[in-house]
Amino acid sequence: MQILKAKVQGFCFGVAITVKKADEAIAGRDDVTTLGHVVHNPQMVESLESRGLKNADSIEDVDRGALFVRAHGLPVEVFARAQEKGLEVIDATCPMVTKIHVQAQKLKADGYKIVVVGDPTHPEVKGTLSHVPGAWCIETLEDVAKLPRASRVGVVVQSTYSRERFVDIVRALSLKYYDMRAVNTICTDTNNRQIEALRLAREVEVMVVVGGKTSANTKHLAELSETHGARAYHIEGPDELDESWFRGVKTVGLMSGASTPGWLVDEVERRMESLSVAVA
Ligand code: SF4
Repeated sequence: MQILKAKVQGFCFGVAITVKKADEAIAGRDDVTTLGHVVHNPQMVESLESRGLKNADSIEDVDRGALFVRAHGLPVEVFARAQEKGLEVIDATCPMVTKIHVQAQKLKADGYKIVVVGDPTHPEVKGTLSHVPGAWCIETLEDVAKLPRASRVGVVVQSTYSRERFVDIVRALSLKYYDMRAVNTICTDTNNRQIEALRLAREVEVMVVVGGKTSANTKHLAELSETHGARAYHIEGPDELDESWFRGVKTVGLMSGASTPGWLVDEVERRMESLSVAVA
């Protein structure tokens, strides 16, 4: 069995910055808290939390020390509340996420009604919506038909959204609205991984995608692989690999989401190699 690895593996640069900043932040102190897990990767979360990083559900549960802002960013009200509470803020919002906020605010200042394309329950999207109060949020192509009338709409998109679905939504919006301006804010890393998933999916029979089960970008990579010819499996680590997936299979692709550390992909690869010998 031949294993073809995607060219882009391991952390994206935004997650790499977040993890580095979190490492620095917790050195020598035990009062640093994130809201929600710091990255969508259970192994990384465990490593940071075992070294003292705390996790809370709400800013109201944080009463001392520092609030660590992960790569997704946070709603503006939460930043304001942290200030009111006298908390130190360590901001590790990914620059690509900040760029979405800036683009949305620019479109709003130019008189466009803002449409944010993405999952309204995702922390990144909640943060973006908070920067442009009154914006509409849509998640699917079907949602376009439900949007109210407007003369001008300005569109931004969640950094990890599917490229193909975004193109379909932009096309539908351009038919519905007279003046529609869309800024493609899908981040470069997501873009590259999705292109790579398309390329690899056509070459392999099975695709293994490594990443947290709650990671939006990892889920999209598995979906993309499925719709472009490969049988895809989304796993969080090597223990989930199942020998039966590889029986009679000649080529397998291996890729990872943006919050998966490179060492974990290597472990999965080693386990796949040993299974490959077993099923040969
Ligand atoms: S996936 Fe993109 S936007 Fe999200 S943290 Fe990584 S580089 Fe930043």
